[in-house]
Amino acid sequence: MTQPVLTRLTSTTHEEVYRVEEAESGLHGFIALHSTVRGPAAGGLRMRVYGSEAAALDDVLNLSRGMSYKNAAAGLPLGGGKAVIMGDPTTAKTPALLRAMGRAVEALAGRYWTAEDMGMAPEDMAEIARVTRFVAGRDEGRHASGDPSPVTARGVLGAIKVGAARVYGSRDLTGKTVAVQGLGHVGWHLCRMLHDEGAKLIVADMNPARAATTAQEFGAQVADPAAVHAAEADIFAPCAIGGILNARTIPQIRAKMVAGAANNQLASEADADRLHARGILYLPDYVANGGGIVNVAAEILHVESPAPWVAEKLAALETTMERILARAEGEGTSPAHLADRIVEGQMLRQAG
Ligand code: NAD
Repeated sequence: MTQPVLTRLTSTTHEEVYRVEEAESGLHGFIALHSTVRGPAAGGLRMRVYGSEAAALDDVLNLSRGMSYKNAAAGLPLGGGKAVIMGDPTTAKTPALLRAMGRAVEALAGRYWTAEDMGMAPEDMAEIARVTRFVAGRDEGRHASGDPSPVTARGVLGAIKVGAARVYGSRDLTGKTVAVQGLGHVGWHLCRMLHDEGAKLIVADMNPARAATTAQEFGAQVADPAAVHAAEADIFAPCAIGGILNARTIPQIRAKMVAGAANNQLASEADADRLHARGILYLPDYVANGGGIVNVAAEILHVESPAPWVAEKLAALETTMERILARAEGEGTSPAHLADRIVEGQMLRQAG
């Protein structure tokens, strides 16, 4: 067992950035700490195939910056960080590789906390936890917080209600039609909750079997995944991939509001303005989907009674969303721009 080699890279935008390598296990990845002003940098570990090392570095830099915004928006005493492993998780993920990354996390002595992201599962976090204390999202152990997805869905539901109150005059979703794109960990729970609230559902997933079973469970209509954004719905909820709100899709959207779990829904900043110009209310994704990191934070911060703590933080996220939407309307701007401005102020301050 050799120690991973952490090579520090220079950065003008991030506090610390490392290339992480360990020859024996084939580990090749990066860890980026965007900010630790509010607390330890926290954000998940992603494993996927990248076209180049530059693409992987780009991803970890963007994602870690995004985590600073998300953690600050949720009022957490955490900064933003992220880790990526280059490789196919279905073939190249081994216990030795995970432990090598875990030792790299341990070497940062708690300045970075890792958790689950794309390509990772709770059992992988358990493997990493064998070599470092600085890992959350575990299924077992003291303070273990498990799968964050149901809590993410709860947060998205709360955001949808805040948006509905503004656009449709009521938080009541009875009879409202919601088009949900992506029926995975979060999307399915969101469908369940919306169904319980009396909403009608239009659902789409790349996996047709997943779409069919979800439709059956909740009496939903199935849409083509390539066209679900254009469904005849009151609300569009992207819960699959990033970049779904773009120059091509925005002119086709019929819903009056967009609120979902997917990260980085806007393909570019200009897309926030495109939505605004069309009178479609966009609820900033990193505020709408902050429930997941709130759940993970309870584990990182060793919260003794996580349920009421998480509930309180989710309520605070709703209040933050309300403030963002109200101020954005007052200023005649997109909530996306306003959220960035508010959160950038918070990111410069220690949580208190
Ligand atoms: P997941 O992988 O469990 O589910 C994603 C689903 O989307 C899959 O069923 C997949 O088949 C489907 N999909 C992929 N591309 C699609 C497309 N083009 N059209 C329709 N369906 C498509 O992921 P998840 O954990 O449910 O997360 C969903 C999104 O929410 C991701 O963007 C993720 O980053 C974000 N998010 C998740 C959490 C969480 O707690 N899991 C927290 C915050 C943000």
